Amino acid sequence: MTRERIYLFDTTLRDGQQTPGVDFSVEDKIAISNLLDEFGFDYVEGGYPGANPTDTAFFAQKRTEKAAFVAFGMTKRAGISASNDPGLATLLQAKSDAICFVAKSWDYHVRVALGCSNEENLESIRDSVEAARGAAKEAMVDCEHFFDGYKANPEYALACAKTAYEAGARWVVLCDTNGGTQPNEIREIVAAVIAAGIPGTALGIHPHDDTGQAVANALAAIEAGCRQIQGTLNGIGERCGNANLVTLIATLSLKPVYSSRFETSIDPERLTGLTALSHAFDELLNRSPNHQAPYVGASAFATKAGIHASALLKDPRTYEHVTPESVGNFRKVMVSDQGGKSNFINALKRRGIEVAKDDPKLDQLISIVKEREATGYAYEGADASFELLARRTLGTIPEFFKTEGFRVMIERRFDSLGRIKIVSEAVVKISIDGQTLMSVAEAEGPVNALDLALRKDFGKYQHEIDDLVLADFKVRILNGGTEAITRVLIESTDSSGVRWWTVGVSENIIDASFQALMDSVIYKLMKNRELAGKIAAE
Ligand SMILES: [Zn+2]
Repeated sequence: MTRERIYLFDTTLRDGQQTPGVDFSVEDKIAISNLLDEFGFDYVEGGYPGANPTDTAFFAQKRTEKAAFVAFGMTKRAGISASNDPGLATLLQAKSDAICFVAKSWDYHVRVALGCSNEENLESIRDSVEAARGAAKEAMVDCEHFFDGYKANPEYALACAKTAYEAGARWVVLCDTNGGTQPNEIREIVAAVIAAGIPGTALGIHPHDDTGQAVANALAAIEAGCRQIQGTLNGIGERCGNANLVTLIATLSLKPVYSSRFETSIDPERLTGLTALSHAFDELLNRSPNHQAPYVGASAFATKAGIHASALLKDPRTYEHVTPESVGNFRKVMVSDQGGKSNFINALKRRGIEVAKDDPKLDQLISIVKEREATGYAYEGADASFELLARRTLGTIPEFFKTEGFRVMIERRFDSLGRIKIVSEAVVKISIDGQTLMSVAEAEGPVNALDLALRKDFGKYQHEIDDLVLADFKVRILNGGTEAITRVLIESTDSSGVRWWTVGVSENIIDASFQALMDSVIYKLMKNRELAGKIAAE
């Protein structure tokens, strides 16, 4: 049976740019467009040439090899001809394969925001599409506020969409700009658009996630006949974000209700790169991946309770809706105080540690873990620390170095301009092969100073930890009052892209951080020697 093609349109670089706290440089945009192009998206929308220096520079050359490179911009202004509109001229000159015009399709916005007549707006849509086609570019039109516009004035919203289609737009994209439309409304309105004469093969959907249903709305539009989806990596975007293309790609590929009827540019082999794509993007944004993200999160295939864990070991299908390997993720059976013995054996096995059920060292390990978890350690969030603890207990960790101690001083003073200045100085002493190495470092924060000092001189191991990066640092105060216990969780990564989590617990935040830092370094040295096991979602 031939399957219908769904086209994937990524707008991470344009609509995703609207995310609070996200501001792409030209270099960021080049790196992200390479990721998108290599992964296999049909369309990569790069931004709005002419609107800002970054986007203008980005569109100075075509940035994709396989994907169609799309420039975004306004339709021509009312009252002037297409050939006299400088904004449109910039858009036509940008080095893109396609142009996505944004057009008003709600009469209220035409009147209030554009201040032109309904007819003039239709003329702008028509002339802009024709100008793009005249410049040998694929044209598409984002009908802004289409669903709200349709509810207010269906005739006019349809007239906008039809004008774009009849002028030769390859895609007419129906936008849920405010993100409040419900899946059943999407389905009904898309069906009405198709009934009005625009085929689904020329219709796209652009949903926002303001009611948490952007993915559901995209699927509802597909069910109703749309054949292009616009969304972003990890669902970034203005307010609550756009439709998450990572989730949509996995669902369209792995759920028979869709995969039996539709195909995308992402074949099963490419799909195994989905987790890496999602994490690489977070890396570029310098934020830590969402552990609970569907399909690609580190917890997406994690099981905690003991009885589930033993059943999982017998037959993974019992507790998984798809296989983690299909999206390049990993199964993760977590250690926790709820876990039974089989849970531990399983967790160890996952890391390549074989231990017999009746080995007394196993009982010893279980009691150490339970004792430590009672004092505040959380091993289920710190795979690497758990592995190190297990290997230490079972006696399989080489002694790379000895820690002799550390000291941290924090000074708060006024600088020559009378401003408050805080400086932290850390001294770390370790010994390698009987030789003591002492390092001093300064930074604003004490943990940062400690980290700098710790990694300043590692003797013969120095080159081995050069690519170690602390990706995230989380502090939790475990019980109130002045005697609170502090738990520090550190996420580390290196040039191989693998991530690992370590934990430290102490009455002192600096000491807790030091423990987690030490575990991270030791894990890295283990990993370099292929002595460490695999961690989920690496
Ligand atoms: Zn949008």
